[in-house]
Amino acid sequence: MGRLSTLFAPERVAVIGATDSEGSVGRAITSNLLESFDGEVVAVNPYKEVVLGLRCYDAVDDVDAPETIDVAVVVVPPNVAVEAIREAGAAGIENVVVITAGFGETGSEGAARERDLRAAAEEYDLNLVGPNSLGVMSTPKGLNATFGNEMATEGDISFMSQSGAFVTAVLDWAAERDVGFKDIVSLGNKAILDEGDFVAEWGDDPETDVILGYLEDIEDGEKFIQTAREVTQDTPIVLVKSGRTDAGASAAASHTGAMAGSERAYEAGLEQAGTLRVESVQELFDFAQILSGQPLPDGEEIAIVTNAGGPGVMTTDAVGDSDLSLAEFEDETLDRLGETMPDEANIYNPVDIIGDAPAKRFEIALETVLEDDNVSMAVVVACPTAVLSFEELAEVVTEKQQEAEMPIATTLMGGKSVGEGQDILSEAGIPNYFDPARAVDSLDALRDYGEIQAREYEAPTAFDVDRERAREILESAARRNTNRLGVEAMELLDAYGIPTPRGGVVSSPSEAQDLAEEIGDEVVMKIVSPDILHKSDIGGVEVGVPPEEVRDTYEDLVVRARNYQQDATVLGVQVQEMVDLDSGTETILGMNRDPQFGPLLLFGLGGIFVEVLEDNTVRVAPVSEPEARAMLDDIDSAPLLRGARGRDPVDEDALVETVQRLSQLVTDFPAIVELDINPLVATPDGVQAVDLRLTIDQEEL
Ligand code: ADP
Ligand code: MG
Repeated sequence: MGRLSTLFAPERVAVIGATDSEGSVGRAITSNLLESFDGEVVAVNPYKEVVLGLRCYDAVDDVDAPETIDVAVVVVPPNVAVEAIREAGAAGIENVVVITAGFGETGSEGAARERDLRAAAEEYDLNLVGPNSLGVMSTPKGLNATFGNEMATEGDISFMSQSGAFVTAVLDWAAERDVGFKDIVSLGNKAILDEGDFVAEWGDDPETDVILGYLEDIEDGEKFIQTAREVTQDTPIVLVKSGRTDAGASAAASHTGAMAGSERAYEAGLEQAGTLRVESVQELFDFAQILSGQPLPDGEEIAIVTNAGGPGVMTTDAVGDSDLSLAEFEDETLDRLGETMPDEANIYNPVDIIGDAPAKRFEIALETVLEDDNVSMAVVVACPTAVLSFEELAEVVTEKQQEAEMPIATTLMGGKSVGEGQDILSEAGIPNYFDPARAVDSLDALRDYGEIQAREYEAPTAFDVDRERAREILESAARRNTNRLGVEAMELLDAYGIPTPRGGVVSSPSEAQDLAEEIGDEVVMKIVSPDILHKSDIGGVEVGVPPEEVRDTYEDLVVRARNYQQDATVLGVQVQEMVDLDSGTETILGMNRDPQFGPLLLFGLGGIFVEVLEDNTVRVAPVSEPEARAMLDDIDSAPLLRGARGRDPVDEDALVETVQRLSQLVTDFPAIVELDINPLVATPDGVQAVDLRLTIDQEEL
């Protein structure tokens, strides 16, 4: 067990701020603890002699052997809370649950108080939950250190929630549905302990089979990804992440910044972390139940057995919407079904054993399909009839599930007739639903988790790069006191081994002429100015300039820049080798730094339609080779890269390597806030970064 084990399994708990005043939080906590805690409760409150029959101490220090108190629950008013925490720390208490509110959630005074609280916790190295927490629960010890009105029943789900109110709602809901818990924590403001700490703790806890979370944000995305990747090798994590907003995206100066906002960072980060993300509470618990009750499937093929045509079709449709597929039966299976089922039955998947089927017929059909090598899981869909006992059916399904050791979900479509059958199924860990789509989605979640468990996370490749050179380029921009860099910083890409066309930035028509002659052919000329974000929009890009027109073009470009903005800073003109666009595809490769997850890489279809088509995919960097390769597969236009319409396929390996190299660059330099390579031209002979734009944060250099 990890270092938080005594938080959930204490012998002695002190309530600092214990009271018996009617309707107070301090009373609720004390009485909840007294109700079921299998250990000692100590009351602390200088204004009371006795609280709910407990002797009340003036201070933690007055308690005998205060260092043997495992958890202090702090419910004092906010102005004395930090002092109470210090006293607990000084007395040798390691775990503190701060119920008191009035911290970071309440404005600047509260924020200052939260900083003090954090400092106190760090000074005494406290495991601190909250502040502004509903508390913690753990069923094996009957620990209810919350001010909620319901204690959880025992089970194998551990649950963390950023909303305390949501904990009480879930407990109320769960009480009706046989959903049991091991530990529950209301995270509050997460001043010290956050979701990553609890994921790590429960990953080590043999009594937790499934970890559930309701989160509004993630404190440290990188830590969370690392921890969750390890934990999900054994223990599934299912999360509801609320607050799907895209704050910040509007201020972006790059295409990547505009398209890769915080919601996409969460989506990618949580996926890369190996968590299952759900949209609703119902899904949260549907997934939790099947993950804790059923084995993982060895494939994605599902068999449907039903006594009703319509619901059978609904189930088939749900399979179509999922990542599961309808199993195609072996001949032997079809022969056996043909012999044992009535003539009117449909022996192909979905197997319809028709309306007069008793439980026995379900038994034969289910056993037959489960023995088929092409079947990895099954769903049993039944409507009530006069000849079918749901109770018998539940027994049959339970028996067959245990024999086959394959995951099964049931859809007993009914109300009061389901009762007994439901109990038998839930006893056996087989989830039952009215709606076939829920059964299919839950089985799909099992498949999903099976895939996560089979993942092998590779370390990102470390390429041999010129990090010093890259630093110099970024620092020289800082010296010019600019945060916006363009093609004048192309060498940044060279330093990290990302191919760029020949060329350079010049500051006079005659230098332009010389460089064009060196390149030797028609060239591309672009205005270079930190004030001009989209060069071609203002006529700042001339493609295919013949040598004799280079001087005039230089002048033209500068005039256009001045027309666009009188006082625009013009750094010069870039003269660049022509890249063969006809045999290539313009892609975009970029990065936007997310406050929680850090560098978010974006790859997609590039060029001028990038924000119109929005065909792109994102990953939290650093990415490994397989992750970079998966980004190519992700986009809808992938066939375009692979040689659609008789074109030669582009050099995929070069693209993948470039994604990895950019990943290394933005990981090495937190000063890069956002970056676009658009276009990154991919051809059969490799890739060329034709344009570059980035924003830096000088303070990070
Ligand atoms: P911006 O995005 O600021 O308008 P770019 O450098 O991306 O400027 O140029 C705009 C477009 O011009 C590119 O999308 C590409 O189609 C074309 N282009 C730019 N540089 C080259 C080049 N070296 N070879 C061929 N085409 C180019
Ligand atoms: Mg561009």
